[in-house]
Formats: sequence, C-alpha cells, structure tokens
Amino acid sequence: MRPFTYARATTPDEAVAQHTEGAAYLGGGTNLVDLMRLGVALPSHLVDVTRLPHAQIETDGDGLLIGAAVRNSDLAAHAVVRERFPMLARAVLTGASGQIRNMATVGGNLLQRTRCPYFQDVTRPCNRRDPGTGCPAREGEHENLAILGHTPDCVATHPSDMAVALAALDARVRVHGRGETGLDDLYGDDPVRASALRPDDLITHVRVPPLAMRGTYRKVRERASFAFALVSIAAALDVADGVVRDCRIALGGVAAKPWRARRAEAALRGGPATEDAFTRAADAELAAAEPLRDNGYKIPLARNLVVRTLGELT
Ligand SMILES: Cc1cc2nc3c(=O)[nH]c(=O)nc-3n(C[C@H](O)[C@H](O)[C@H](O)COP(=O)(O)OP(=O)(O)OC[C@H]3O[C@@H](n4cnc5c(N)ncnc54)[C@H](O)[C@@H]3O)c2cc1C
Repeated sequence: MRPFTYARATTPDEAVAQHTEGAAYLGGGTNLVDLMRLGVALPSHLVDVTRLPHAQIETDGDGLLIGAAVRNSDLAAHAVVRERFPMLARAVLTGASGQIRNMATVGGNLLQRTRCPYFQDVTRPCNRRDPGTGCPAREGEHENLAILGHTPDCVATHPSDMAVALAALDARVRVHGRGETGLDDLYGDDPVRASALRPDDLITHVRVPPLAMRGTYRKVRERASFAFALVSIAAALDVADGVVRDCRIALGGVAAKPWRARRAEAALRGGPATEDAFTRAADAELAAAEPLRDNGYKIPLARNLVVRTLGELT
C-alpha cells in the first residue's frame, strides 16, 4: 500500500477543498480500502466524508431524502423505507454482510467499483484501471460480466444492488454545488468510466420520489449470501382490472450500470398483466443483449426473473 495522508471533513465545502489532485473521498472504506490493499487504487490523500452532516434520512412529502453518509444498515432498517420502499430495503439487505452494511455508506455504495476480475488484478491489463491497455475479459473470464451496453473496451458490470432499486425508483443523486442527476447520467454511457462524475464531485444526498406501486427486489447469485448478483431485478407494478397501468423495471448484473428496462416498460404499459405479456416485454428488452462466449445464460435468467417477479407483483 502506498503511503497516504488522511483528513476528516466536517462540511461539504471543506471536503471539496481538501480533495486535491490524487485524493479520494473515504466513506465506510469497504471497497476503497480493499482496492488500496490490492494496489488498484493509489490515492495520495483520503478525505473522510462520514462526519459530514449527511447521515439523516428525511421524509420529503411521500418521498425520501437520504444523506450520502447514511450507513447501508440504517437505510435498510428505516421504518419509512421498509414500509413505502420495500424494494430499496430488500436490495440493500441482499448486499454484502451485516458487518459490511454497518460500515458502508450510501455515497460509497453508489460509487463502488466493478468486481471484474481483470480490474482487480494489477498484473493484468484493464482499460478501466489503465486506459488503453485492453480488455482481456472479452476473450477470457467473463461469465459474470455484461450482456447489455458493453463495448469492445469494457464488459464490466456494476456491482451495487442498492443502485438497481434506486434506478427503478427514478432517484436523483445530489452532487455538491452541481445540482441533481438521475442514475443513468450519473454512470454515463461509457463503460470504461466508472461514473460520469469528476474526481472531486461529492455526493451529498439521494432523493427518492414517491412511488404509488407495489415493488420488490430479487437477486440471483451463486450462493445464498455474500455474493454479487448474476442477474437482479427491481420492479414495481400497478395493475387494475387485469391491465398494466404503470410499471418500473431495472436489471442488475447485466451492464456497467443499473439497466433501466425502458423497452420492457413501454411494452407492458396499457397491456394485459399476463405471463405471455411479461415474457414478450422481457424479450423486447433482451433483444439488445450481446452475450459473450460464456455469459449467454444471463438472457434466459433475466427473462425468467422478469416474468417471475412481475407475476409475483400482479
Ligand atoms: C465481501 C464483500 C461483499 C459485497 N457484496 C455486495 C453485494 O452483494 N452487493 C452490493 O451492492 N455490494 C456488495 N459489496 C460492496 C459494498 O456494498 C460496498 O463496498 C460499499 O457499499 C461501499 O460503501 P463505502 O461507504 O464503504 O465506500 P468506500 O469504499 O468508502 O468508497 C467507495 C467509492 O466511493 C467514493 N465515495 C464514497 N463516498 C462518496 C461521496 N459521498 N461522494 C463521492 N464519492 C464517494 C470513494 O472515493 C470510493 O471511490 C460487498 C463488499 C464486500 C467487501
């Protein structure tokens, strides 16, 4: 591990001022410190942002304003989150372990780095870690990697479960001094870039608008706990008289960002809430998938997950 300096910020302005070149914000450190140990992240200075005044969850009408320093455990346990946004509570609870969720913050969870094995191994090339060195995952070990939105330069997936629920909830991420952005824009369209933020952009809050639909989160993984998603889904559905009035679907484990399934949503709205219609909607979304040699299984997995989850919500 390279030597680094450490400072604790108490105001957002102070945090940004302390974020000089080569610095990194430190949330719970459950991802960043691992990457420092591996030599993947080499910050010269850490700005601890866990003592900023952003550790509250406030109700905002029927919505929520979640501070970036809120711990994942506190978010999942919050009474309003559990009651009005069970999809979000469930997504957070499927991630990591109790101990890690006690440390992990909302801001850090959103900006945690990919678990692509090439990104995490400094002895191997990786365009994300060392731009221009190539992406051996395309021909190599990629069974857990992306089927949607990838490019020849990067086939990594985003690991966060919470972010998938926030994408389905149309959440807005508040960046100090720069206003709010949706999750699609937060992550951008270039898989090589982990996010579209600048290095010193500080996330202060996540705003979740009200949701008047039943929602849930399901995750398929290699073992029942302590594993990242092969495919996951955050979905909400409003059905009246057998017709889909509204719906939200976001998929995890399939792309470099939470994948909002807008084609599937459009196919469902105004149509029957039947298994056939759910299957057609899933296929409409997955028609854009470009599986690699060893991850084609994610297409039927995602389809089945969409159909099962929408069926459960109906
Ligand atoms: C064994 C293990 C299993 C896991 N399994 C899962 C899982 O199944 N699902 C899942 O979703 N996650 C999983 N995780 C990941 C875990 O959720 C993340 O490590 C955690 O959420 C990161 O939060 P943190 O506060 O510790 O971030 P940190 O490690 O402190 O920071 C992560 C990144 O965010 C940046 N950052 C932090 N706060 C801010 C801010 N306010 N503004 C701007 N940038 C900021 C940091 O600079 C850094 O780049 C797992 C982790 C481990 C170690």
